[in-house]
Amino acid sequence: MVLKMSHNQKRILVTGGAGYIGSHACKALSAVGYTPITYDNLVYGHPWAVKWGPLEKGDILDRDRLDEVIAAYQPEAVMHFAAYAYVGESVENPGKYYRNNMAGALTLLEALRDHQIDKFIFSSTCATYGMPQKMPISEDHSQLPINPYGNSKLMVEQMLKDFHAAHGIRSISLRYFNAAGADSDGEIGEKHDPETHLIPLILDVAAGKRSQITIFGDDYDTPDGTCIRDYIHVTDIAEAHILALEKLKSMNGACAYNLGNGKGFSVNEVIETTRKVTKCSIPVQIGQRRAGDPARLVGDATLIRNELGWKPAFSDLISIVETAWNWHKNRLILEKNIIC
Ligand code: UDP
Repeated sequence: MVLKMSHNQKRILVTGGAGYIGSHACKALSAVGYTPITYDNLVYGHPWAVKWGPLEKGDILDRDRLDEVIAAYQPEAVMHFAAYAYVGESVENPGKYYRNNMAGALTLLEALRDHQIDKFIFSSTCATYGMPQKMPISEDHSQLPINPYGNSKLMVEQMLKDFHAAHGIRSISLRYFNAAGADSDGEIGEKHDPETHLIPLILDVAAGKRSQITIFGDDYDTPDGTCIRDYIHVTDIAEAHILALEKLKSMNGACAYNLGNGKGFSVNEVIETTRKVTKCSIPVQIGQRRAGDPARLVGDATLIRNELGWKPAFSDLISIVETAWNWHKNRLILEKNIIC
């Protein structure tokens, strides 16, 4: 069953549109006059996050269902967010990642080829670079992933080059650094189960839902000994997808851009900022280093700034944490969890 809709609206198929970054992209698409068609298997996605267009439940590995939805809506382009993204799990269960992230993307690309849809925006990741050789990381850095998650994403980037050469599918891969923050209107935000990301975990501690945050190592070669990451606001990521969509109308090729803030923040800085924003106590304990964590990961996003005119609006850590807290707090209040 697919919903009927008028064919004068411009439609974009958004796989994973019920997820964290996908739902923010749907909101951004709607703001510029597109109807996002969310295609999501709801394994990790949330029906409540689908607010700006129809939700079509389906799996990217299900070619028949993809054909049905694509034929019904005839989207102009596809934004492909649907993927599994737990690095540790990908090491323990690589098959799950190659099947969903790689074979799923392949199934989707073959469907697009057969329906003559030639514009594709792909959620890639800084995990495709592997251990950084130089900092900040620019797009020409070697791509040698160190886990199956990064491998599965890199394989899709490679497929995109081949699908362009053979079938004319133009694509932009956006390599995200650490997505963070939430919609500034508080309509959607980050909710993963299980949660592994630093900022939502710290917010749970601030809210009294977890007792403490464990810092994974304080003996790194960084100014305060804790790891430095490039936190980039999810709304800025969503805006980059809109710019990429415009670019694809005049571009021919398969290219990639970094999406980072260019500024690194340490785990300690994130905790300190969260204390200031929430005014709650945040107990910490120092734990072991987490396997595979480099000391510092910071992206150079000069290329997308210059070529697509991307300007992050939420580049300071305070606004990233404030928007995340605003959403997180309201959700916990609704769920009747403790605040401070
Ligand atoms: N981190 C931490 N404690 C946690 C979760 C994360 O110290 O409970 C650190 C982690 O080692 C990394 C940073 O926070 O340096 C960001 O981790 P996250 O899992 O959010 O993103 P990643 O960088 O792994 O994609």
